[in-house]
Amino acid sequence: MTWLFFSSSLAARGEGTEEEEAYTHNNNSLCFGFKRFPGEMERGIDGWDLKAMDAEQLRENAHKMVDFIADYYQSIESFPVLSQVQPGYLRELVPDSAPHLPESLEQVLQDVKEKILPGVTHWQSPNYFAYYPSNSSIAGFMGEMLSAGLNIVGFSWITSPAATELEMIVMDWLGRLLNLPDDFLSKGQGGGVIQGTASEAILVVLLAARDKVQTKMGKRTLEKLVVYTSDQTHSALKKACQIAGIFPENFRVIETDASTNYALSPGMLEEAVSHDVSSGLVPFFFCATLGTTSSTAVDPLATLGEIAKKYELWFHIDAAYAGCACICPEYRPYLDGVEEADSFNMNAHKWFLTNFDCSALWVKDRNALIQSLSTNPEFLKNKASQANLVVDYKDWQIPLGRRFRSLKLWMVLRLYGVANLQQYFRNHIDLAKHFDGLVRGDSNFEVVTPRIFSLVCFRLAPQNSDEDLRNQLNRGLLDAVNSTGKIFISHTVLSGKYVLRFAVGAPLTEERHVSEAWEVIQLEASVILGKVSNTSRG
Ligand code: PLP
Repeated sequence: MTWLFFSSSLAARGEGTEEEEAYTHNNNSLCFGFKRFPGEMERGIDGWDLKAMDAEQLRENAHKMVDFIADYYQSIESFPVLSQVQPGYLRELVPDSAPHLPESLEQVLQDVKEKILPGVTHWQSPNYFAYYPSNSSIAGFMGEMLSAGLNIVGFSWITSPAATELEMIVMDWLGRLLNLPDDFLSKGQGGGVIQGTASEAILVVLLAARDKVQTKMGKRTLEKLVVYTSDQTHSALKKACQIAGIFPENFRVIETDASTNYALSPGMLEEAVSHDVSSGLVPFFFCATLGTTSSTAVDPLATLGEIAKKYELWFHIDAAYAGCACICPEYRPYLDGVEEADSFNMNAHKWFLTNFDCSALWVKDRNALIQSLSTNPEFLKNKASQANLVVDYKDWQIPLGRRFRSLKLWMVLRLYGVANLQQYFRNHIDLAKHFDGLVRGDSNFEVVTPRIFSLVCFRLAPQNSDEDLRNQLNRGLLDAVNSTGKIFISHTVLSGKYVLRFAVGAPLTEERHVSEAWEVIQLEASVILGKVSNTSRG
């Protein structure tokens, strides 16, 4: 097959007529191409200006890209943190179809500056305080680069032994740093695996638990299987239940409130489980959270673990954000009770300086995952797998293909070292304490739940205002603050109260950013309060 390309040099000269540029059918083959121009070389893939892969071109272009990214970080504070574009903005700015002929990297980077960056919300900005952080770091970035450079697809051990083995080793390292029980490490029946997201981690353990109970009790039990969780658990669990076919009426959401700081009450869990048992249902899965998404509530893992054990529930702990800080000895007690868990996950891509995506999952019984998720088609068979000598991570996850993610975690652990990582979390937590103090110092505001890690839940709560007005004020305040582009914060609702969330955790955030953020919030609040008092006077 021959492709005749209209050369980029000719295109740049603008010498191709419309007619010449039209597709013409190449009679000798079933493909399409451009007419050849007098004097133009016939160009195949070898004639591309930018080759598919060439070491020198890679060096030159990747250097330019690294410079571009470094410049971005240098000027990151000049962008509005929350993108201020309107839905659909990009359609107006880019062509309807892909270019037929190559463009230059410079042209593309110019478009990135002019068209893409305005539509980017700057998660790495030091003024980013929304949701939970999603850290980038030099080490994580380089690991990601190396992974992209090698670009292997490590689904089975044989497809790149180093990818599987490094993942096992790094997950053992991280497991030891968290002081997880040995059962979670690879030398026993358990082990760690890197999933893309906490949502995938939760889904795979739910599937493993479902299949384990069904193996024991029969496939027909599906309609009786019950899952337990709290109203603060991340929606990832609900989605996992939808995918796993759990009957919606068997998804038990246990209410929490301010009396436990939104932690799940063991008494309520036990009551729900024993009620279901007496109704002939089959409780099988319970998910607790260390650091809930709304307010970093910590469920009492040890007591909950005992209940899970008593009723033979698969006990999963989701520590997506707060688990990162548990490598500090002073935060490790929050993890007490993990000994009773069947599985545990934390997102290194949240706060652990590891570029997205990297969600660490450990299980005590890896066979449960494998039983549920393995397939063994002829085309993937190989001696090492057949002889059961190796781990094939394809059987621990939903997709077949998998990236060499352990490289970035390995780089982060080696290039920063545990001592610096611990210091990193402590610093963010100190900054959150600082913010907490600023809020408490202003009588128009209140801190809504006790701060545990680096998230402060607070709200504008002027005296003599009722709940409706407070909710309205805080909705307005959130919009006003984020519209300034100076900072980005997010919100949640706790017991009907509209609450603002200030999550410290971006790698570049310093005390001055926190103090300035507070000034922005106070200023916008004073405008809003001014309007309210004018209206009530008027
Ligand atoms: N679990 C908790 C506690 C979270 O806070 C989040 C996200 O913020 C998730 C799960 C979902 O994480 P992912 O995007 O990795 O699926």
